[in-house]
Amino acid sequence: MTQPFDAEARRAVAPVICYPTETLPQPDMALYARALTNARKVDEVVVPARDAGVFQVRSGQFFRIGCIEGPQVGDLNLWNAGDLTERFYSGKTRALHGSHVGTGDRLWSAFPHLRPMTTLLQDSLDWYGIDAFGGAVHDVIGTRCDPYTGHLLNGGQYHHCCHSNLTRALADHLGISLAEAEPHVHDVLNVFMCTGFTRGTGQYFMKASPVRPGDHLTFFAEIDLLGALSACPGGDCSSEHSSESAVCHPLVVEIFAPQDGMLEGWMPPVTSGYDRSHGR
Ligand SMILES: [Zn+2]
Repeated sequence: MTQPFDAEARRAVAPVICYPTETLPQPDMALYARALTNARKVDEVVVPARDAGVFQVRSGQFFRIGCIEGPQVGDLNLWNAGDLTERFYSGKTRALHGSHVGTGDRLWSAFPHLRPMTTLLQDSLDWYGIDAFGGAVHDVIGTRCDPYTGHLLNGGQYHHCCHSNLTRALADHLGISLAEAEPHVHDVLNVFMCTGFTRGTGQYFMKASPVRPGDHLTFFAEIDLLGALSACPGGDCSSEHSSESAVCHPLVVEIFAPQDGMLEGWMPPVTSGYDRSHGR
């Protein structure tokens, strides 16, 4: 198609931020950080390589995802522990906080709840920023590696994609069938994964994660949470992620409980105040 006469002028229009966040309720990061300083570890789940693990965190507790043996990315699902229909909403989290999350950002739940499920309190990869390729860590743009897309693109039947790992782990934890568990699995937070979009073609890319043993991501649980974490078969995601070819490592999830009184004044967030009448 030929360009209109004012094509350049139209391209030159400056963007506006879709969701300015000045009016978002702000977490009390200093309060959370103080409560973490003398919190005691109450549980630990080691997630085996190419598999997933489930963990539970009470509202007001912390969970820390750690890299332990070698560079490894993780795919995280979160649910309200008492109501699996309230689950992490990757797309809205992206709309509010950007393509990658960092310290102070929150992971939001799906409609009609739309409240912060957790607040990102500490990130040892904060220093990474945005690299020369436009890559950054902890994205909410990828979905999760899955056997359906793998089959679509390459054929075959690979069973240890994050989607399947999360499905098995949730089914085993809840004592339900794989068919019952699968619809609860949703788009993830890609923990430690380094991703972006290519400038020329706008394609989703990944590159070797900068994560190293000792790195961690620490969250404050705003509500009672059931979490599932898959140690992605992509390993550090430097090459591919739907096969046995990548070197993979386990991940760890540690749960910490604050001392009594350390969260004085804090209240769990309430669900959205929209009345749900939708104009009728
Ligand atoms: Zn994966």
